[in-house]
Amino acid sequence: MKPIIQDFNTSENSVTSTLRTIVLFGRNVSTYKFALASTLLKLKPKNFITYEELRDEFLNSLLTHYKKNPHQYQAGENSLTRAFDKYMLDGNWNDLLISAEKNIYNNVFDAFHNVGGGSIKKEHLLFEHLPHEKKLVLTDNINELLEQRNYLEVLKNENESRWMIVEEAWKNNLSPNFLVYNQSTNEFISVSSTDRINLRSAVSVLLPYQHGCCFYCKKKINPYANSEDSDFPDVDHFIAHSYFKRPELIHINPDGVWNLVIACKECNRGIGGKFDRIPDLYYQSEIINRNLLFTEEHRHSLKNSILLSLNAQNHNEVLRRMYSLFDKFKIIEGWKPLIIYNYE
Ligand SMILES: [Zn+2]
Repeated sequence: MKPIIQDFNTSENSVTSTLRTIVLFGRNVSTYKFALASTLLKLKPKNFITYEELRDEFLNSLLTHYKKNPHQYQAGENSLTRAFDKYMLDGNWNDLLISAEKNIYNNVFDAFHNVGGGSIKKEHLLFEHLPHEKKLVLTDNINELLEQRNYLEVLKNENESRWMIVEEAWKNNLSPNFLVYNQSTNEFISVSSTDRINLRSAVSVLLPYQHGCCFYCKKKINPYANSEDSDFPDVDHFIAHSYFKRPELIHINPDGVWNLVIACKECNRGIGGKFDRIPDLYYQSEIINRNLLFTEEHRHSLKNSILLSLNAQNHNEVLRRMYSLFDKFKIIEGWKPLIIYNYE
């Protein structure tokens, strides 16, 4: 995370990059940061702003989002969401203000500049928080920003888009990093389906692990064969693409190495071939073992791509992800080839 922030600041050394960095790379457990950014972007340049001057706009901006999507907090509900629920029933704005003041202001102001486990450097801060005086002292950085009318609109839009991605991701139990918001179509796109890799390149890497044989029938295949030859290596998606349209699987990248095996043409698409079927339990445990092997080997070239494509941090998470994935298919009758040449 750190190198990205540095690149960002050197390539575009202005206050807009600071706000972008905060909004795009900040770790979120709630969407307060977006509400505060949106509030700050509406200010006129000034020396400081008190809690009192800031709170209505801040809460209004949160409430507007909350009404459309209640997933404003990663862990579900908290005291503020309960205060919003109460407000929507009784319309008592004052109670909402009191609750917000008691529970969130300090956290929001102090956490605003945190990015990727650290904070923005002092010279880039947008404000200084003085909790005892209940105010934010605005720095030259933000005042300079507030004078750049053209940029303000761009930043407001970016902040809104990122906000919508985060709340939409939480709603669907996804990591926000797997969603992109397309403003022109008003749609959310899963990054995993746009990030295609060159699948043919998998042959030379994966075939040695299969001892040069088809993953399923164990027949020898020839990495140099032409596509018309019967021993041509097909790159097979162990779990076919079609299954990943299910909402609970949309965050997994089906083109990831974790899901690729090398199969003979017959097994992949011949008579009695696999096509879109789920492979038999025997093969499920084989592919789990293979993926674990890749992630166990400390410097294996595929280790990172296995981890990334499964959104896993380590070996144990790979195991958990794969078990829970296959668990979804356990009621499906598995496929296996009619003839197995060298069943180990
Ligand atoms: Zn085969």
